[in-house]
Amino acid sequence: MSFKEKVKPYLEPIADGLFGKQRGMRGPQLAPVAPRPIGLMMEDLLRLDDEAWGTYAFSRDVLNRKFTPEKRAELTHRAMECGREYAQKMAGQYGTSNPTELAKKMGMQVEYPEMPKSAARVLFAEFKAPNHIYLYMDAVRKARTTMIEPGVKAVLTDKLDIGQLLLAHELFHYVEETYKKEIFTRTEKVELWAPKPLHNRSTIGCLGEIAAMEFARTLTDIPYSPYLMDVFLVYGYSKDAAVRLYEEIMGLAGLRPSNPENYSPAT
Ligand SMILES: [Zn+2]
Repeated sequence: MSFKEKVKPYLEPIADGLFGKQRGMRGPQLAPVAPRPIGLMMEDLLRLDDEAWGTYAFSRDVLNRKFTPEKRAELTHRAMECGREYAQKMAGQYGTSNPTELAKKMGMQVEYPEMPKSAARVLFAEFKAPNHIYLYMDAVRKARTTMIEPGVKAVLTDKLDIGQLLLAHELFHYVEETYKKEIFTRTEKVELWAPKPLHNRSTIGCLGEIAAMEFARTLTDIPYSPYLMDVFLVYGYSKDAAVRLYEEIMGLAGLRPSNPENYSPAT
């Protein structure tokens, strides 16, 4: 995957979106943002449809401008279908949809370090080939603190186990590696410029992320897009960065952020 995304300056501190690709906490000076309750942000983001999340995922991809909105929507749906298909396939093959058990049966080494070795960036979890998954406990603990903020549990429900969700997402990256010759997220390619008669075809990184999210949603059976976790997890590190990310996602979806003054947390 290529990480040379053009990140909008106001997102620079951490909120690059997508599990495992958050940036370092230091960045250029940013304008202050109005605080927003996390419960309200989660409530708003719940309204986004699959295509809106696809737009967001593509906005993080260097190849974003290669596609029309129609093509992005089509690829989003196909990537989601791929995530669902492999979740069912793995659950069927190994006889469990519990991510921890699945990881064990698939021969993964799951480790739970406090933080990534390089402290230059915020990272929630990562997969390292051939068979290592790291779940960073600092992130999980911060998420548990965010979970008890007013209104959050009502939106995210008791079904959310953040550790299991992160694990399921990373597990998909292992599945992708295993089935790389045939899996949609790796076989789908886009033609980049190259002098004739050469061909330069590239995979589309965000398809793996979209599929990983859907894979995780299918296994954990949560009733919303795991992409909500981008804002949710960032909130544990920086409330301002979470608000900026939320505002950007709402903007990409063509929705207006709702007014915090009218907010009363659901219980
Ligand atoms: Zn990922």
